[in-house]
Amino acid sequence: MHHLDFSHERDIDLDELVRRIIGYNSDADQTLVRKAYLYAQKHHSGQKRSSGEDFFIHPLNVATTLVKLQMDVDSIIAGLLHDVVEDCDVTPEEIEEEFNSEIAQIVVGCTKISKIKFKTKEETQAENFRKMVVAMAKDLRVIIVKLADRMHNMRTLQYVSEEKQKMKAQETLDIYVPLASRLGINSVKSELEDLCLRFLKPEIYYRLAEKVAMKKKEREGYIRETLEIVQEKLIEYSLKAEAKGRPKHFYSIYKKMMARGVDFDQIQDVLAFRVIVSNITECYKCLGIIHSSFTPIPGRFKDYIAIPKINNYQSLHTMILGPKAERIEIQIRTIEMDEIAETGVAAHWKYKEGPRKGRDKLAWIDELLEFNKSIQSGAELMDVVKNDLDIGGVFIFTPQGEIHELKYGATPLDFAYAIHTEIGNTCVGAKVNGKIVPLRHRMKSGDSVEILTSRTQRPSKDWLNIVKTGRAKSKIKQYLLKIERDKNIEVGKEILDKSFRVFSTSIKSLRKNGDFAKIIEDSSSRTEDDFYANVGSGKYSSKQVVEWLPQENKKTEAIQEQLDEIDSFSKSIAHSARKKSNKDNAVIVDGMHDVMVRMARCCNPIPGDPIVGYITRGRGITIHTSSCTRIDTCELGRGVEVAWNSEFIFKHPVNIRIVTHDKPGMLTSISQAINSIGINIKSAIAKSMPDRKGSFIFEIEVAGYSELLKVIGKIESLEEVLSVMRA
Ligand code: MN
Repeated sequence: MHHLDFSHERDIDLDELVRRIIGYNSDADQTLVRKAYLYAQKHHSGQKRSSGEDFFIHPLNVATTLVKLQMDVDSIIAGLLHDVVEDCDVTPEEIEEEFNSEIAQIVVGCTKISKIKFKTKEETQAENFRKMVVAMAKDLRVIIVKLADRMHNMRTLQYVSEEKQKMKAQETLDIYVPLASRLGINSVKSELEDLCLRFLKPEIYYRLAEKVAMKKKEREGYIRETLEIVQEKLIEYSLKAEAKGRPKHFYSIYKKMMARGVDFDQIQDVLAFRVIVSNITECYKCLGIIHSSFTPIPGRFKDYIAIPKINNYQSLHTMILGPKAERIEIQIRTIEMDEIAETGVAAHWKYKEGPRKGRDKLAWIDELLEFNKSIQSGAELMDVVKNDLDIGGVFIFTPQGEIHELKYGATPLDFAYAIHTEIGNTCVGAKVNGKIVPLRHRMKSGDSVEILTSRTQRPSKDWLNIVKTGRAKSKIKQYLLKIERDKNIEVGKEILDKSFRVFSTSIKSLRKNGDFAKIIEDSSSRTEDDFYANVGSGKYSSKQVVEWLPQENKKTEAIQEQLDEIDSFSKSIAHSARKKSNKDNAVIVDGMHDVMVRMARCCNPIPGDPIVGYITRGRGITIHTSSCTRIDTCELGRGVEVAWNSEFIFKHPVNIRIVTHDKPGMLTSISQAINSIGINIKSAIAKSMPDRKGSFIFEIEVAGYSELLKVIGKIESLEEVLSVMRA
């Protein structure tokens, strides 16, 4: 099984290098390798690296990496010589003379790529990609040598300035990681990703490293235990296989944390197991054995054998509940598949020594070059290249040229949350490449995106259906939960006011003598707001709350019914408050119900008018009639699609006064009657009158006169009701 270690090697010498090459390629041209070794050593002599070591340690390590990938002799020699043109004034002609033209071409390709100045500006980056693709299209080995070069530079990045560390790591993440991924060289890709994380987000990297190390013993025990069970089962079915387990790479754990918006401790599946068998039939047989020995997790099985990934990766993936009900991922593949998974395109050169094979190209590069000819815009090319390189993500630029990687299909809303939670929460739309787009617009790689915000904007439930990234989802949910809590606190305060009044006391006077603090303590709520929220959400009924009142407040008798009424009334208030949502806005913006809009004063549209919406800076969305002549010229070109919400009903607040026989439970039965025909109650006041009559004033919301009549009729039909009128 392959787990290539690319660590910086100091002890390797010429004999060791040759020994390793012969190890997998007995026909290798030793003489040429020895010549290249001494040639590079001579030309770099006197040069030092930032670490203080002789410069030659660098090309030697690059060559060593190429040996680990089992590349051909030309590539290894090119690795040894890759910096002599740039740093030692050796001409390509000289290399061709001393070695051969293939080697010279690879070295020239590497030198060209190293001269590309990578910047984060959109156009430049597109140009970078074009050059990279052109360089590697001539000979794929150029890019493999270049990856080995970058690998060693990343491995020794701690010796350069912090500024350079960040710059190089970002460049690696933006350009080399997608390339390694597209070429299927996963061993290089995951190692580069971990190194990028280490230098770009050191706090996160070292915290992860610490967390992973902390439970090392426990995990190793767990891996051993799981492997034993797997092995036992495989032997039982007489399947010969090699099984191994290890923690996933830091970067893939980090990506999971980001995608789900959670912390390390909440990530369950940090272990990956791999079973290597001899042929495809055994892969499926092994899968069957594992699925019948453990509980498979539905929806997590992927068959990359039947449908290989675009980079030729093949394997079966499944997720099961392992011992102690832990979720573990198991990959099942053959030896060949494993080799391709680790070394990707590099596997092409194994056993394929010879000048002609070295020119192997992948079909997609041809297509890309063909396509290149018909594309004018750099951004468009980059979209194609980037999407092709890494199907997983899109690359988006801020107006300042910063680059962000987001999930494929991500919207401006995802981008807004990727920048900052507050920007996400107040996002009303975006300008993509200078053009206004709605929130649900799907972004493409290379898009330059400016987020438009408004102080009055608030996240809504609809947003959860728009966003694609876990981060945005969890931030929206967080906000919605907070709103729910705020509402509960408000309702809780109201209920307490009502309940305490029954006992002739109040929050204020209880607070004065310190009793309120005691009540909160007795309720085992952590804070005063927690206490209100618990009352508001119905976790504590008002009956329970008064239990906590000090003794001298409990004198009042026959209060049970009053408390019952408070409880049931508060429930109906809370219910109608929660029900409020979809139908509350008159205008639907871009298919969403919950976007706050402002009617333009100039034309004051009323339902039924043809309307247009414009995004205004800082003031959200303004609605004009289509025929309005006073639309600000600066608003033009910032239009969003708007429509009248057919479900929306304009509500007018109305007070009604009800007189009843003074019977217990009247408040409840009237509230129920009103709620039963779908009318919202804004507030209610009840009082007892001297002649054994009850008087109530309800503030309700109705759409019009006929609805008001309907409510009045409904209340009048109650047995104890004496009169109902508009107050
Ligand atoms: Mn180099």
